[in-house]
Amino acid sequence: MDITIYNTTLLTMQGKGLGVIPNATIGIEEGLVKYLGRAKTIDYKKADQIIDGSHHITMPGFINSHIHSGITLLRGAAQDVPEIEWMNKAIGPFVKHLTKEDLIAGSKLGVLEGVSSGTTTFAEYTTNVKDLVEEVYFPWGIRVVAIETINEVNRDRSRLKPTDLYEFDQDKGIAAFKRNKQLFQTFKGNPLVSVMFGPQALDMISLELLKEIQAECHERLSKFHMHVAQGGRERLQIQGRFGKDKTTVKVLKSHDLLDSHLIAVHIHDTTSQERELLVNNDVGMVGCPSSISMIDGIVPPVSHYRSLGGIASLGTDQAPGPGNHNMIRELRTISLLTKVLIQDPTAIPAWEALQLVSVLGSHNLGLEKKVGTLEVGKQADIITIDLKKVNLTPEIYKPFYNFIPNLVYSMNGNEVDNVIINGEMIIHNYKFEKIDTKSIIDDVNQRATRIFVDAEEDWIQADSQLVDFHRKGLI
Ligand SMILES: [Zn+2]
Repeated sequence: MDITIYNTTLLTMQGKGLGVIPNATIGIEEGLVKYLGRAKTIDYKKADQIIDGSHHITMPGFINSHIHSGITLLRGAAQDVPEIEWMNKAIGPFVKHLTKEDLIAGSKLGVLEGVSSGTTTFAEYTTNVKDLVEEVYFPWGIRVVAIETINEVNRDRSRLKPTDLYEFDQDKGIAAFKRNKQLFQTFKGNPLVSVMFGPQALDMISLELLKEIQAECHERLSKFHMHVAQGGRERLQIQGRFGKDKTTVKVLKSHDLLDSHLIAVHIHDTTSQERELLVNNDVGMVGCPSSISMIDGIVPPVSHYRSLGGIASLGTDQAPGPGNHNMIRELRTISLLTKVLIQDPTAIPAWEALQLVSVLGSHNLGLEKKVGTLEVGKQADIITIDLKKVNLTPEIYKPFYNFIPNLVYSMNGNEVDNVIINGEMIIHNYKFEKIDTKSIIDDVNQRATRIFVDAEEDWIQADSQLVDFHRKGLI
């Protein structure tokens, strides 16, 4: 055995609930879960690395189903602005000034933050995603779903009015699609990397290209991961292009683009019937609660989607909206916001929230045979959580497990003390084994300082709400 964790409380995430096994041992060998259970049929002392799991929860690492990690170095750049301004006027002026190296540095920061709060799988969605996989995820040994952003619109849209239709550049879309296809070849057989297609959104791509992407998905048995019905900015574009009575879901349906290969991110600008249509067509949903409440003032309809029988999971999206890449905060946020939204404190109970970032996340990303639950033969993506922390005390096992609600409502993320991915120890006793976190933070600070200064003029010209706050001395 390479690693054993003994005397621990396992949340296997199997079955209807969380599959709790108290006083358990789990053994890892050659990247896989070799043994787990209560019985002492394993001599845990024979492993190369032995971890005392007492007063700890041991569970599958969290799955972040949607992240743009590169822009983490713009944290704090675009919050408290109207939805219609966020992308083109608030964040856009800064994004223009990011170099490839900046995006890599930002990604390192975001992934560092995610892993240290228990995330072991990231669905990374960006332009030139190969750079981030090769410079960050793969060398660090972090599991990633690589998704290339495919769009046909110009990067600089800061001077457009919301009703001005985006101009399309076919060659840009074709080049991105080609890059996306090449990823399958580049990362073939890589145990840590899987690939999906990433058409950005229906307002940013032609139907012709979207259909080509769908056909490619069918052929490769892959998925396409797309922002769907995010809000007013997208709605105006769709109405302008397809007609006043059209919505994103209506257009996708009429062109046979709704199927089990589609992962629809957001979907909050949808009617009840449209969500039903998505569920009936086996479309998976990803909600990004912190990001979307910040950017759109909306609660992702995760609870509604689940009640219709759909598969849903969670993502952090990006840092400049939600603030960070911490799945524990997403759990608390989605549960609390949903309770308020539907005025029902029973909505999204803690056990259901934990499923969103484990077993359901793995199903949504097509990784259910590899990760998402603790089972013999599955890949060992495992975290331990220290229940001795002040905010997780007391630790109660009878008559019920109080640590299940505590993981969602009391945890902050910095109680994760060990992180194992694919059987490799990434964090041991709160310390990254191979990553120099200080040099990453120093580098990001230097780069971000330059970017914010370089972007100042563009930012002022774009004239978002934040510029007004700034003039008044409020930020
Ligand atoms: Zn996104």
